[in-house]
Amino acid sequence: QDIYLPWLKGSLGLNVNHPLHLKTLLEETQDFSEQLYQVEPALPENIHHQINSETLYSPNDQEFRLGLCHTLNQLDQQHLKVALKESYQWSSVSPEQRIAVIEQFALILEHHKYELIALCINEAGKTWQDAIGEIREAIDFCHYYAQSYKGLAQPITLPNAANESNKLIYRPKGTFLCISPWNFPIAILTGQVVAALVTGNRVLIKPAPQTQICGRRIYDFLIASGIPKDSLYFLPATNQLSQQLVGNPQIDGIAFTGSLATAQVIQQELLNQRSYAIPLISETSGLNCMITDDSILTEQMVKDVVSSAFGSAGQRCSALRVLFIHESIYQETIDAIIGVMKRLKVDHPRQFDSDLGPIIDEAALERLQSYIQTLQEDKKLLYQIQLPEMDGHYFAPALVKLHGIKELTKEHFGPILHVIKYKSNDINQLIQDIEDTDYALTLGIHSRDKHWIDFLCTNLSMGNIYINRHITGAQVAAQPFGGHKKSGSGFKAGGPNYLLQFVNEQCISENI
Ligand code: GLU
Repeated sequence: QDIYLPWLKGSLGLNVNHPLHLKTLLEETQDFSEQLYQVEPALPENIHHQINSETLYSPNDQEFRLGLCHTLNQLDQQHLKVALKESYQWSSVSPEQRIAVIEQFALILEHHKYELIALCINEAGKTWQDAIGEIREAIDFCHYYAQSYKGLAQPITLPNAANESNKLIYRPKGTFLCISPWNFPIAILTGQVVAALVTGNRVLIKPAPQTQICGRRIYDFLIASGIPKDSLYFLPATNQLSQQLVGNPQIDGIAFTGSLATAQVIQQELLNQRSYAIPLISETSGLNCMITDDSILTEQMVKDVVSSAFGSAGQRCSALRVLFIHESIYQETIDAIIGVMKRLKVDHPRQFDSDLGPIIDEAALERLQSYIQTLQEDKKLLYQIQLPEMDGHYFAPALVKLHGIKELTKEHFGPILHVIKYKSNDINQLIQDIEDTDYALTLGIHSRDKHWIDFLCTNLSMGNIYINRHITGAQVAAQPFGGHKKSGSGFKAGGPNYLLQFVNEQCISENI
């Protein structure tokens, strides 16, 4: 029996009015991954022994479908409350074994990479390049957190006071709720969940409603790697129910990636429903800028501008939203950007040469369309590429002229680049205006003037600064990612301090 899931409408770049059935999606994904498996290089022979096949579902499996369609209702919430009061098996698994299980999970991801790539393309509308990068990033998170956990697994010996030995140990916090976004339905979800698991916590996975199949597959693979079922739950809850979930007294911490508005709701629910503070690790929106000067190489700068603003259809929180161009190179830069925009290919993400896939869903598309309409009425739209009639949620990349960043009050999550012309004398005001937005995620600088670069790095407080390159695609370990103020809270993902947020410190002093 086919099961109709309303949230499958549209993000696939197909006819928005044509309700898709899960079966269709899975068959497509399946066909697609089968084709891909033909180009799969031979797998290591022992991989089949390492994977417990009984715990793996094939995407056509009835149980998989039912599991997926099962959203968390009131009754389940009651069950969950009771279940979470019980102790969980994972807490008594040794750190060494936990690391081994996560490394095993990384192997399973590697083994299933083509299926996951196909899912990312089909369910999240990602282009090939983005889908491949996404799976790589997920695997990187596993290795990185498994290795960095080794540093927390051993007690730290502290200075002895007279006749006392002192040591510091790190213990799991307990139960973590991981609320993950649709724009990185595999990488970010994996990063949050693996960080919480390797440190010994029980985890509730709450995937974004738009990308639940991706989330479900990660859950399956974690269980197949050896995470006990009482220590990992997959909760495809509605947003309303997940608000209630936040108030569950058994939850000891939340890792959230998504919009600022949702982070505010979670914070409010924590205030309303909880009797004490629990950590909220959040990675939210950005109003990311790039500042260029007249010493730059225009061609290189424009390539980086276009990929930062329009890559992934602008659906990255790190994406470039505002480009500051020095007046002396303003017109040539605009002409060059428009020249490159004309060559962008907006197409079904399954096409290898598609530069931009669809917008995630109808609601998101409508928000962008209505914003563009306002800009058009205000005569701020400089250029928008022309798209042919297409089925699906496609949005044509646009270039918009502003007088100052104050005209922007929030993030517009799509392929819209705002440009602002500045004069040398404006720079202090410009810095102040950027800081006053209260967003602090990514910043780009294009310049060959070392002093100027140092000056901007010192005076702008953004979480990730990229010099003479694009501003998206932070690499695990090399470029820990995340911001502060309206852009997030906590230590950076893929960085040396991230795991500290998932543990409690315990100091033990013994009279000897
Ligand atoms: N880490 C991603 C990047 O560096 C962005 C994550 C997000 O959009 O949430 O581009």
